[in-house]
Amino acid sequence: MVYRAGHQAFFILVAIFLVTSSLFLLSGTGPATEEVTGELQKITPLFPSFAETPADQELIFYPESPAPGDFVIVEAGPVSEEDNGELTIDFPGTVSDHYLLGGLLYAVAAISYDTEPGRYRLEVLADGDEPGSTDLSADITIAGKDFRTSRFSMPASRTEGWTAERLAEDREKVRIARETTEPHPLWIERFIKPLEGRVSSEYGAIRIINQNPPRRHSGIDIAADEGEPIVAPNRGIVRLAEFLLSGGYTVIIDHGIGLSSTYMHLHTLAVDEGDLVGRGEEIGTVGMTGYATGPHLHWEVNIGQVPVNPEQLLENELLWIPPAYVEQKIK
Ligand SMILES: [Zn+2]
Repeated sequence: MVYRAGHQAFFILVAIFLVTSSLFLLSGTGPATEEVTGELQKITPLFPSFAETPADQELIFYPESPAPGDFVIVEAGPVSEEDNGELTIDFPGTVSDHYLLGGLLYAVAAISYDTEPGRYRLEVLADGDEPGSTDLSADITIAGKDFRTSRFSMPASRTEGWTAERLAEDREKVRIARETTEPHPLWIERFIKPLEGRVSSEYGAIRIINQNPPRRHSGIDIAADEGEPIVAPNRGIVRLAEFLLSGGYTVIIDHGIGLSSTYMHLHTLAVDEGDLVGRGEEIGTVGMTGYATGPHLHWEVNIGQVPVNPEQLLENELLWIPPAYVEQKIK
């Protein structure tokens, strides 16, 4: 097993314990489950602060002061394998599927970029009736955030021949691609950049094009030369790889639990729908197909249908998944 230099012994321990726990499960002996949910769950949290009070059930989340357009990783438990908790939120956005890791429940909540700042609530509702199965909750304060406004014009020739019907068909294809997901993480370790380059348009920016009503920028634009390779930021299954009117050549990768990444305006495609791509594997090249004024990558990250800030995906060590977990899930 190869570990990236930035990872601490802590994570190696996590992987070792997961391997150990999977061995218990594979051995098929009666009390194995109890052993896994008993001791191991207390020493495998991804959030170091969780270990401070290992005996209690709790719900914690990161980052502690998120802004509109961020996503929040929730860790709750301990829970048993049978206790299928569900994360709920009361702010605009959505919640990913949850997954269990080392006896704890993880889920990702997306905060819509038009969320009003304020105090909201995260809750994990346990569905089991067994003793110790309780509902967990925490208050979450969502800060305010100013998004940049930009104006630019596009020549009418860029949308020649477009019809409302074709645009609606494309939107539906994208919606279905983002909805099609594996119920567990497919990604391994941390996410990497799909392309090096200058961010030429920020996530969430308010854009006014040709005097049209303002629209929000649902991803980031990375400027680069035509033909530069674009790589998968992490492991996943390609759910869409085709030409769309506005997106041009487009790729959508499902990373599991409803977390997907989207790549638009590509010059060439290097993958097909259904392909399992590895982290760092080329998926296509930079171009300016579709609704684009120059060569760049439009990179978008979604939880379900809600776009979140892709840059947060790169900063976030806490989405780290031990390789042993994925090896166990993916054959
Ligand atoms: Zn863009």
